[in-house]
Amino acid sequence: MSVNQAIKPVTLEEKNNHLYLGGCDLVDLAKKYGTPLYVLDEKSIREICKNYKEAFKDYSNIKMMYASKALCTSALVRILDEEGFGFDTVSAGEIYTVYKSGVNMSKVLFNGNNKSEKEIELAIDLGVGRFSVDNFYEAEILNKIAIQKNKTVEILLRITPGIECHTHDYIQTGQIDSKFGFDLSQIDEIVELIINKYSNIKLRGLHAHIGSQIFELKSYYDEVEILVKEISRINKKYSLDLKEMNIGGGVGVKYTTKDEPPKISDLADAVTSAMHKYAVEIPTIYIEPGRSIISTAGVTLYTVGSSKQVPNGRKYVAVDGGMADNPRPSMYQAEYSAEVASSVNSKNKEKVTIAGRFCESGDILINEIELPKLNPGDIICVYNTGAYNYSMASNYNRVEKPAMVLVNNSLSDIIVNRETLDDLISKDVIPSRLKK
Ligand SMILES: *Cc1c(COP(=O)(O)O)cnc(C)c1O
Repeated sequence: MSVNQAIKPVTLEEKNNHLYLGGCDLVDLAKKYGTPLYVLDEKSIREICKNYKEAFKDYSNIKMMYASKALCTSALVRILDEEGFGFDTVSAGEIYTVYKSGVNMSKVLFNGNNKSEKEIELAIDLGVGRFSVDNFYEAEILNKIAIQKNKTVEILLRITPGIECHTHDYIQTGQIDSKFGFDLSQIDEIVELIINKYSNIKLRGLHAHIGSQIFELKSYYDEVEILVKEISRINKKYSLDLKEMNIGGGVGVKYTTKDEPPKISDLADAVTSAMHKYAVEIPTIYIEPGRSIISTAGVTLYTVGSSKQVPNGRKYVAVDGGMADNPRPSMYQAEYSAEVASSVNSKNKEKVTIAGRFCESGDILINEIELPKLNPGDIICVYNTGAYNYSMASNYNRVEKPAMVLVNNSLSDIIVNRETLDDLISKDVIPSRLKK
């Protein structure tokens, strides 16, 4: 089993009616660092990296690029750099975080559908290895900035392969009507512009990303087929030697028992079998997993507060976090699993709806889950919150963002400090005419 196929992180244990992660009692961590608290299990991160490396070990031209948008903090970048991963980035903020963490910037790819000139300048100045060019406008400004800086940039072209896959509409990206990338019918036009006009852009290959939380390996197989065929068609038509292809994100993860994501080795089989079937010359493959690298490693701890029994209706139990630290349930009905870290084995169970503390009726973390009877002060552990939680967090209701702790071998270390009330007002300015 690979790490993405389990709901819980690899070191999760039950001891004395408490949950432990990385050898640390989660109730103690909640006390020590406060809640809500994001906790990352270092062993789970390293284990899934191993799953990816082993799955593709027979394929020498593979480059693993962690999709930073899933979670981007300096300590995590250090771990993934140690594991040999490069980084897929989508903003100056992610590029800067990776750079400041000491990563060799040739291992970084800059992706995104509306990169600003300022971001492109920073990426060129810091020596980002590849740009994934998304549209005509970007190619034009990228070439202009490269000329100004007397640099040549190496790029992939992001294309829309026209594959529909079964995931939520908001996280599906490869279908024809998508805001991302060049339509297949626009490829020749952009290739010709690069060859004839954009002197400081070197085309190296193609890039596609079919969506996130994908379980069907056939979608990857079809994607590779399209990429391989397009690359050889372009090479033939324009006498080029494109040798790189980026297949985008990784497979899905198991949020609830209903989810059955594939093994990483099955993903590798789908990709390499399509490659061997359709490719004459085997290209370098980039793969950019985000969710599957970090989701399962992360849990969020919350403290139980108030509750409300609707007469003849359901019982709401409120926790001290919600849509600002995990916007996924309110944004796209994402489902999660949870246990009670402070009384994991208690037999006295009831069905409750876990509500957040934010001022929106839609701020529900989990609908109708059976848990040991909850009392104020109990600690709830929500699983699979490593990806797209902190990275999507906001300060809605002017609430401080939670801290993040890394656990391993019974040690816990803060890797992101909890925001303070002063942090919240630190960017505010009162114009002098309004001062008291
Ligand atoms: C979001 C994204 C990824 C990561 O997808 P996951 O499903 O988190 O693995 C990779 N590549 C691109 C271009 C993306 O937009």
